[in-house]
Amino acid sequence: MAKIMTAGPVQVRENVRIARSKVTTNPDVDPAFAEDYKALCDKLEKIMNCSGRAYIMDGEGILGLEAACASLTEPGDRVLVMDNGIFGRGFDGFVSMYGGEPVMYTKDYHEPFDPDELRAYLEKDHDFKYATLVHCDTPSGMLNEIDKLCPILAEYGIMSVVDSVSAMFGEPVDFDGSYIDILCGGSQKCLSAPPGLTMVWVSDKAMDVMCNRKTPIASFYANITAFKTYYEDKWFPYTMPISDIMGLAAAVDNYLAEPDVLQRHARIAAATRAAVNEAGLEMYVNSGYSNTVTVINVPDGLIDRQILDTMIEDYGIMITGAFDVLAGKVIRIGHMGENANYEDMVETIAALQATLSKLGFRLKANMVDVFNREMGR
Ligand SMILES: *Cc1c(COP(=O)(O)O)cnc(C)c1O
Repeated sequence: MAKIMTAGPVQVRENVRIARSKVTTNPDVDPAFAEDYKALCDKLEKIMNCSGRAYIMDGEGILGLEAACASLTEPGDRVLVMDNGIFGRGFDGFVSMYGGEPVMYTKDYHEPFDPDELRAYLEKDHDFKYATLVHCDTPSGMLNEIDKLCPILAEYGIMSVVDSVSAMFGEPVDFDGSYIDILCGGSQKCLSAPPGLTMVWVSDKAMDVMCNRKTPIASFYANITAFKTYYEDKWFPYTMPISDIMGLAAAVDNYLAEPDVLQRHARIAAATRAAVNEAGLEMYVNSGYSNTVTVINVPDGLIDRQILDTMIEDYGIMITGAFDVLAGKVIRIGHMGENANYEDMVETIAALQATLSKLGFRLKANMVDVFNREMGR
């Protein structure tokens, strides 16, 4: 099996896999489960500096995005959909599905949102119930400055829904400090547990708004308010996936045991970018590089599939292309969580260098040497 150096799911550490295989209690009836679940949510709240509440829902990361829109949107609500990437644009579907009116704020996919431009836009029109934005838009590797953008939204009385699925635990997030209202995460990116769980962090204000709607939430599974009193009532809306959650708890403990985890991501990402640039390859984005994924334009004359297949067939390393408007245009190396270590990354960069050479691309520098130099090896 190839080593997965993809932008999620990523490699899973053995102690997380073992945690998922342990004997379990019945999470429906054993009050000990609600205690463990709450202890884990408490840790998640602390990690993101959230004075609201965190909840873990049973479904892959997309569930959190849908749940935020399902729980906040009432028919006719205007919602600002901040679009400078594929996931950013994709929020329009969730907003309209639940009866909202998405208003697109579309910008160049090569640049992060400019806080001053956003402010100028809102000065003219700020009649929005909430805005959606993506922290790291994974297909392009675009990192948006949520710590600057969300406070501006808040100034204009607009709540924010932030998809940080592929950034959190690899890039800093300050929920309270950035005035975020709903933050969405998944198990299979930087946290490095298998796919299957969504995490949402919810401000007191957002919970209040969701609980005081005029119309009922048009979903059962995507209704965040169904979790509000789980602890008091020792009751969840559906049977919780206890083994998945035990794995997540182990992954969270791994994260907490490594104080320098964000610096590790920053270092690996900077060394990767240096290797890419000095070799004469181009990154897709012009600025706003996420430390969790590197997205490289497919060099002229090459085909993404050739690169990806050669990486697997000759070197046993899986990286990916992208989809939608970026299909065929880029290749992506995911250096998030368990993937963001020297050994796996130097192996991946060596394989990419050899693959590109084999396919006839003339590199301007030895990528491994540059990577090693930047890593201080
Ligand atoms: C991975 C990811 C999600 C989760 O969705 P899948 O495409 O189903 O993996 C959501 N948002 C972003 C930005 C992601 O990278």
